[in-house]
Amino acid sequence: MIRILFADKPENRPRYEGPLTRAIAQTGIVAEIVQPGETDPASVDYIVYSPQGPVQDFTPFTRAKAVLNLWAGVERVVGNETLTQPLCRMVDLGLERGMVEYVTGHVLRYHLGLDATLAAQDGVWRHDTGVPPLARDRSVVMLGLGALGRTCAEALAGLGFKVTGWSRTPKDISGIDCLSGPDGLHAALARAEILVSILPDTPGTTNLLNSETLALLPEGARIINPGRGTLIDDDALLAALDAGRVGHATLDVFRVEPLPPEHPYWAHPKVTVTPHIAAESRAETASEVVAENIRRGEAGEPFLYLVDRSRGY
Ligand code: NDP
Repeated sequence: MIRILFADKPENRPRYEGPLTRAIAQTGIVAEIVQPGETDPASVDYIVYSPQGPVQDFTPFTRAKAVLNLWAGVERVVGNETLTQPLCRMVDLGLERGMVEYVTGHVLRYHLGLDATLAAQDGVWRHDTGVPPLARDRSVVMLGLGALGRTCAEALAGLGFKVTGWSRTPKDISGIDCLSGPDGLHAALARAEILVSILPDTPGTTNLLNSETLALLPEGARIINPGRGTLIDDDALLAALDAGRVGHATLDVFRVEPLPPEHPYWAHPKVTVTPHIAAESRAETASEVVAENIRRGEAGEPFLYLVDRSRGY
């Protein structure tokens, strides 16, 4: 029997208990799922982890074969010096589909000019100015072509948008114009009528969207950021919004969460704040990923979605 520590916040345990138990049983592994405080840390084989949970010090978990993060983002654990075990992040179907729906919804809001439509319910028939362009005439740029960015880029291309993707390393994805590196970033930004950023928070992405890079965008570009708050220099974005360089921004993630009520984003007429709801790991599908990684660990096979701690994602 192996021992699995469920180290998410306690209120999430009921949501995961059934799915995790079922998913592990399906692998044929006999396991006991315990909570922090219920067992000797030195007897734990795997830690199912979330940064909102109680485990900060991994030192006592001397037997643990892996830390299995329930989140896609690892910025709150990747630098933890007590962590010597392999760290895996979450790539989950529920997370992926949630992100696709959030991103396509907000891209279509901008593309179709839905805000103007909603504001124009005033008895005036504006046929001549009201027909939106086709998606094929709209350039959307995706920063980040990982598990989430790539799936969103492909979904947008499937709707007919002209999609450009940008990543650290070169990629070849059917239907997406793939760019990489600093030159690629400049070229991508210059064509971004709608810019979507699904990058991780790492030293290499901090303030990637700053006064210099925002100045490369076409006048009135729209920004959607469900990646991380640190990707954007907030003062630079506010200045670009005020100057009209950026037409509107939809922001799901922030340097400080919850976003404080007095933050200028809340009151800004060109900003939509969403409360970090773009995508969430779903217990049913995330449990299958956790169970598969435990099966791999027990079989001596390589883990899925292993984090490269030197690059930070
Ligand atoms: P992945 O690790 O699969 O992909 C990351 C992508 O970012 C890769 O394409 C990578 O390039 C690229 N990248 C990383 N660093 C750089 C850099 N310095 N320059 C250019 N490109 C870079 O992550 P996911 O797609 O699974 O998730 C992305 C992020 O989405 C998460 O880290 C998290 O912050 C955020 N997220 C937000 C949620 C929300 O609800 N708002 C929910 C879930 C995730 P390469 O391919 O070359 O390695």
